[in-house]
Amino acid sequence: MKILIASNNAHKVLEIQNLLPKGWEVLSFKDFPELSSPEENGITLAENAKIKAEYGFLNTGIPTLADDTGLFVDALEGRPGVHSARYAGPQGVDVDNVNLLLQELSGKENRNAFFITVLAWCTEGKVVYFEGKLSGNMDTQISGQQGFGYDPIFIPQGFKKSLANFSMEEKNAISHRKKALEAWLTAIN
Ligand code: IMP
Repeated sequence: MKILIASNNAHKVLEIQNLLPKGWEVLSFKDFPELSSPEENGITLAENAKIKAEYGFLNTGIPTLADDTGLFVDALEGRPGVHSARYAGPQGVDVDNVNLLLQELSGKENRNAFFITVLAWCTEGKVVYFEGKLSGNMDTQISGQQGFGYDPIFIPQGFKKSLANFSMEEKNAISHRKKALEAWLTAIN
């Protein structure tokens, strides 16, 4: 099986790769430097995942899987949500997003939040979707060196440490991404 993951995010691609059956040929946008990433101007995670999946498939002919993920924080009426990547500005710098979120949550008692991953799978003329969710709490400070994005401030339900303190294998055992990928793998097998 040969697939393209419609992402330039090395961390995300590695997490996905580690959840796929061994022996698959897995490419990403990094293998196609001539392709620029498409503009993610959808208003839902599914729309953005579709934009990336169709872009990948139309430009390479390789069946393409796109992941769009958002962090939804209760006390912020669901923000950053679909805008998680560029929450603190167009550059999309993880540390800036994390710091802005910590600032906005300062003094808030309700720390409930969840990640949602929507996968779009684009093969010949067709896109199908799969979803995974991980609930948890927003921490009051940054901790941990693993993972990426909002991992240093997200404590999964039932744990006492942020996702950035989980090894990739530990994160992949419980994550939003893993749940969505499992649903997709079941559907295509
Ligand atoms: P996108 O799905 O690549 O557009 O990511 C949206 C935003 O969520 C980016 O800021 C990512 O860094 C962040 N993000 C995506 N997946 C995860 C995750 O598994 N943990 C923490 N942050 C994530």
